[in-house]
Amino acid sequence: MLDWYDRHRRVLPWRAPPGETADAYRVWLSEVMLQQTTVAAVRPRFAAWVARWPDFAALAAADEAEVMAAWAGLGYYARARNLVAAAKVVVAEHGGAFPRDEATLRTLPGLGAYTAAAVAAIAFGQRAVVVDANVERVVARLFAIDTPLPGARVAIRAAAETVTPQARAGDFAQAMMDLGSGVCTPRKPSCLLCPLNADCRGFRDGAPERLPVKAAKKAKPQRHGTIFWLQRDDDVLLVRRPGKGLLGGMRALPTGPWVETMPGLEGAPVATGWQMRNATVSHGFTHFDIELSLAVARTDAHQMADGLWWPIAELDRAGLPTLFAKAAAAVLRRDG
Ligand code: SF4
Repeated sequence: MLDWYDRHRRVLPWRAPPGETADAYRVWLSEVMLQQTTVAAVRPRFAAWVARWPDFAALAAADEAEVMAAWAGLGYYARARNLVAAAKVVVAEHGGAFPRDEATLRTLPGLGAYTAAAVAAIAFGQRAVVVDANVERVVARLFAIDTPLPGARVAIRAAAETVTPQARAGDFAQAMMDLGSGVCTPRKPSCLLCPLNADCRGFRDGAPERLPVKAAKKAKPQRHGTIFWLQRDDDVLLVRRPGKGLLGGMRALPTGPWVETMPGLEGAPVATGWQMRNATVSHGFTHFDIELSLAVARTDAHQMADGLWWPIAELDRAGLPTLFAKAAAAVLRRDG
């Protein structure tokens, strides 16, 4: 694997050149961004982020609202809040540098088993077992582990442990990630090009693409809500969502409750002549899907409790989460 990695490694902005040690801040940030998000989507966001907050000290001193806005569209916003919280702990309690061992890394906000192992291995060369979705797939095939996920994770991790080397554990982890991403792909693994094919039980058994076996997905509940677009001259009303809960702390368009049946105008920011648009916006969250109706009105009120009048022409700088960006686009498409 290490020979293969030396020849085929992906060049990524958060990786160090061969033979050099990667910067722990960049490794950590990239690993957090890459959870649930593709490399292609992360690349430009990573570059913009490190230009603005290049190290722990800068991130610890950042305005959290600006951080949340910079995260907009990447989803799972607790990750962004935890980045700031962890940077503050690193500055206050660890002299501005990450602790080097996996156990202490895990005490930091948001650093779960995976991220702590990835940072310990890639940034500090510690032997740590790093299992992301790509590695999970490679290992399940290599050892022909056919118990369905998520139950198979214990066996996959134990198997990964047996092949993780003492030396160059970080390069080994990245090699497995690259193999999963480019060779041992979900639907059509390129087994003939794979450096592991002589040892791969999944390949030998003839149908590696069926691994890892996934448990049947449960249908997600459907919720409904209304998004309120309240316009005053060339501005629109934004609110900040409560700090705790879904999309917590993010700037957003006002919404009413998210419930099982259409709530209509319940929760509108003002009582006025709302017009319902003949369009809806749909979005999938981890635990439910939501369909939101759009209600639109104009006002000349100057004071609005808990609200912020934001120039519509600069709405792309508000850092709205994807759901609200979609709603704004739907309203503006019609108005334009
Ligand atoms: Fe994956 Fe095929 Fe390589 Fe096995 S031989 S690890 S299934 S690409």
